[in-house]
Amino acid sequence: VSSRAGIVVTGTEVLTGRVSDRNGPWLAEQLRLLGVDVAQVIVVGDRRADLAAALSFLARSNVDLVVTSGGLGPTADDLTAEVVAEFQHRLMEVDEALHVRIAGIVQRLSAGRGWTLDPEATAHSNRKQANVPAGAHALEPVGTAPGLVVPPPPGSSSPLIVVLPGPPRELQPMWLSAVSDPLVTDALAGREEIRQRTIRLWGTPESELAAVLRENESRFTELEITTCLREGELEIVTRYHPQAENEYQDMHATIGQAFAATAFSLDGRTIDEIVADALTESASTIATAESCTGGLLASRLSAQPGASAYLLGGLVTYANSAKIDLAEVPAELIGQFGAVSEEVATAMADGARNRFGAEIGIGISGVAGPTGGTEAKPVGLVQLCLSRKGQTVAQRVQLPGDRIDVRTRAVMIAMHMIRQAFNGG
Ligand code: ATP
Ligand code: MG
Repeated sequence: VSSRAGIVVTGTEVLTGRVSDRNGPWLAEQLRLLGVDVAQVIVVGDRRADLAAALSFLARSNVDLVVTSGGLGPTADDLTAEVVAEFQHRLMEVDEALHVRIAGIVQRLSAGRGWTLDPEATAHSNRKQANVPAGAHALEPVGTAPGLVVPPPPGSSSPLIVVLPGPPRELQPMWLSAVSDPLVTDALAGREEIRQRTIRLWGTPESELAAVLRENESRFTELEITTCLREGELEIVTRYHPQAENEYQDMHATIGQAFAATAFSLDGRTIDEIVADALTESASTIATAESCTGGLLASRLSAQPGASAYLLGGLVTYANSAKIDLAEVPAELIGQFGAVSEEVATAMADGARNRFGAEIGIGISGVAGPTGGTEAKPVGLVQLCLSRKGQTVAQRVQLPGDRIDVRTRAVMIAMHMIRQAFNGG
């Protein structure tokens, strides 16, 4: 058996989507690494009643632990500590030693920034942050707010609540210290490791994968398998306890055999890592000429640490004049075949290769939309080409979705073309 946890992310800015949640996913992964099964992640605004309702809901879902993020600051909308205290039937009291430490931190911080603080407001906010539920353990502040570990009232079976600040750079180190708090260790006692492995396919429809999994269902009873289509890649994520390792190896082999041509990652590596490794190991160099993707491919290649070993550079040749002047595309080709054509994409790839002196060149030209489509060349049509000495591989695709989708998907396809160039595929 494993322990179960719930996560409550607070913050109206997260609820409304102004800030995208980085704490829920991070905490879920940390809990998984500890062998804790996450039952729910709930996002609530900075409202007392909604936070209380989320806590009650999780308590009824039989979780052993709840982790909250946000609402620990000194302002009026920061009400997590109070709501959690009330939920656990604990009164708030000032922790005098903590109060002194917070005052010290605030003073050092403001001196460092050259601020002059209003003494009365500062005293009030320091006191608020030093106010902790009776019987709770305070976690040392990373910023100015301490975290809290708040046990349920004696005799109650409700969960232990760990209260963490909202800013991810404060929450992350504080979580790492929270896990060694004796109340937390206790609540998570008896847990068992949960392994998580990922396999990725390129070019297999979800239905075919589903069919193979269905056929083998009776052999994989201890595996929790989820599949998800992401930017054209089919991702299979499997979670299991260590005793099911043999079953997982069996499933891994089954998928590897059934989809030998499309299972490009059987070891969890992402396409970005695979491409980086292939370019590095073969000591190849690469350069790009991009039109509709506007440099996204070069950006993606450069995002990997160590990219300087293989990425020489990229051209953003959006206008035809740029294709001609920078990527050395003959003007006649554009006139005869149009900018979105195999001929022009190939000339762009060759031009990039030539201008940068790279071994591999990639050219991408397409209609990202929403305007600019014609009957012959509709929105979503993208022409890609990979060229190297004595070889060109062209791919023409009709991509669904809006401008963002078309551009990201085109880059993904280019990444797979690079990978396939090393597989002889
Ligand atoms: P503070 O003392 O800074 O007020 P806090 O614990 O009260 O800390 P919040 O007020 O909820 O935290 O959030 C502070 C900032 O941290 C937000 O403006 C936001 O930028 C960031 N933040 C909060 N929650 C999240 C989240 N779930 N994901 C990403 N960023 C977040
Ligand atoms: Mg705040």
